[in-house]
Amino acid sequence: MSAATMVGLDIGATKVLGVATDGDGRVLAEVLTTTPLGADAVVAAAADVVTELRARTGHRLEGTVGVGIPGIVDVARGAVKHAVNLGVEEEWLPLADLLSVATGAPVVVDNDVNAAALGAAHVTGHQDLVYLSIGTGLAAASILDGRLRRGAHAAAGEIGHISVDPAGRPCRCGQVGCLEIAASGSAVAELWPATDVPPARALFDAAAAGDAKAVRVRDAFAARVADAVRLVALTVDPEVVLLGGGVAQVGEDLRVAVARALAVQATASPFLRSLELPSRLELVPSDVPVAAVGAALLGRVSP
Ligand SMILES: [Zn+2]
Repeated sequence: MSAATMVGLDIGATKVLGVATDGDGRVLAEVLTTTPLGADAVVAAAADVVTELRARTGHRLEGTVGVGIPGIVDVARGAVKHAVNLGVEEEWLPLADLLSVATGAPVVVDNDVNAAALGAAHVTGHQDLVYLSIGTGLAAASILDGRLRRGAHAAAGEIGHISVDPAGRPCRCGQVGCLEIAASGSAVAELWPATDVPPARALFDAAAAGDAKAVRVRDAFAARVADAVRLVALTVDPEVVLLGGGVAQVGEDLRVAVARALAVQATASPFLRSLELPSRLELVPSDVPVAAVGAALLGRVSP
């Protein structure tokens, strides 16, 4: 085992997952807690997770603490805005500074999808990929030629807010007909409400059992996810597109449905067929918390 120990925190809307990893990104310990409301409470909860990881591993964990969080992140300053679970919208919250004071460790912060892409690249070994996060919304992160592409304004990969339907419904971003209105976990929850299991799981199970309406809803949803895959594939042409985010917990059924939709969309186009998109589609590994592991790796790759 490498002597170095790294800490990564995945601060989500409902839970904070912390991992301590060795220098090669292998998980040594995991701590999970519920995400409280409000910036001060989130910082305190995150600091508690770091303390618990220190206790569990017996390491002093003196290295950098990496944090992945939903929102717009200024990586250089470690500040975040539009982070709904932190209760911050328009103003910047200096998350790295606050958490550094609370933990006594240097802290780096990045967007959660970027962190997940880094973790997924590390775990899968792919150096050229787009990670498609299909969760409450829809977003992508790109590792191109081994480098994370954040964009000049940290907006690279915000493909959920590409307006694709001028006659579509209003989006929370202020536009109409955005891609994420049809290709996200929220879209599934609206079309196939379920309470005892995640809606995407309920939908794909019902479709697999032969429910005709579920088959239609599943295939329409998969076609919109396939649109997102074509979008990123034709924009940056990565070796692989990884399906991640909450909806990807459906697993192989999701990959198969999206691959089938890609094949259907390519039937009339020798050009699209030549790209062999269905075979370039993979699921993010389900046995490793890629967002938390990627956050730990941030300490190695951030400026
Ligand atoms: Zn939008």
